[in-house]
Amino acid sequence: MIGHAVVTGGAGFLGSHVCERLLAQGAAVTCMDNFLTGSPRNVAHLLGEPGFRLTECDLTGFVHVTGGVDLVLHMASAASPVDYLRLPIETLKVGGLGTLHALGLAREKNARFVLASTSEVYGDPLRHPQREDYWGNVNPVGPRSVYDEAKRYAEALTTAYRVSRGVNTGIVRIFNTYGPRMRPDDGRAIPTFICQALMGRPLTVAGDGGQTRSICYVDDTVAGILAMARDDFAGPVNIGNPEEMSVLDLAMTIRDLAESESPITFVERPADDPAVRRPDTALARDRLGWLPTVPSKDGLRRTIDWFARELDVRAADGAI
Ligand code: NAD
Repeated sequence: MIGHAVVTGGAGFLGSHVCERLLAQGAAVTCMDNFLTGSPRNVAHLLGEPGFRLTECDLTGFVHVTGGVDLVLHMASAASPVDYLRLPIETLKVGGLGTLHALGLAREKNARFVLASTSEVYGDPLRHPQREDYWGNVNPVGPRSVYDEAKRYAEALTTAYRVSRGVNTGIVRIFNTYGPRMRPDDGRAIPTFICQALMGRPLTVAGDGGQTRSICYVDDTVAGILAMARDDFAGPVNIGNPEEMSVLDLAMTIRDLAESESPITFVERPADDPAVRRPDTALARDRLGWLPTVPSKDGLRRTIDWFARELDVRAADGAI
């Protein structure tokens, strides 16, 4: 039973959905965020809910929460390449110091701790699909290392707190997740393609578009994270949708679903961009009883509808 959960990074894309789901399940939620890449707007609709508290706080500094806490879900970190390349030191600091402080909070409160890690710990993988026992292929001095290595270090910290301090920790390795409340300009492929399709602009596919991604709708990812929160398993556990598609197929699917006539153009592929990505989800299924259930076309349709409304609001505000 989760009475009170602390969600770090709760005003971000994924964190806001986690806060929403926890509240709907009857938990009180303290959302801690410094709004570096998230926004109070993402949780504005929760502010009137009994049990919801929004605290502006930088996890790399002093962290304090009053009262008992059953769960610390550590989701604070820039997550999109555009953000972490712009904020390299901040990303390393929240992965290191931020994780240390979130773990300290869980230890002080005797709470379950779950780290939102990432499929990026596998880097440009040499094994496919990726199972949790694969150690990864990360370039420690490449441009993406600020994120990948921060998360690898955060996993090491989490494991050390479990082994040497007795904290009830768990690690989820989240694969590409999409859905409402992603930022139109966050640089990730899905919001970029959707906005380009809706605005009638060319869809910019990196490289020849043959690289693959496995995309998971946000409701499924949140269910996986919360299944891990309710378990006492250490993990790591992959949470993602094994349905794999090429980036070019993804662009064409989005263009069709958005009923857009935008052309597709090809742009330079970023350094260290992974060639393939697909989770092996057997462990999540067997241990947590979790499986993704939303087919990509349904999830993409819901996301396109949300972006269409969001772009209208922004246009009315003169923001675009
Ligand atoms: P996001 O950028 O929307 O959310 C991250 C949140 O963390 C933001 O609200 C940001 O303001 C906050 N934050 C950053 N630094 C902070 C600090 N020092 N103190 C307090 N708050 C801070 O990103 P997201 O996509 O919602 O990702 C959430 C988490 O899930 C991240 O830890 C990310 O690594 C992980 N993850 C996400 C995905 C995905 O596909 N979205 C995939 C793998 C892992």
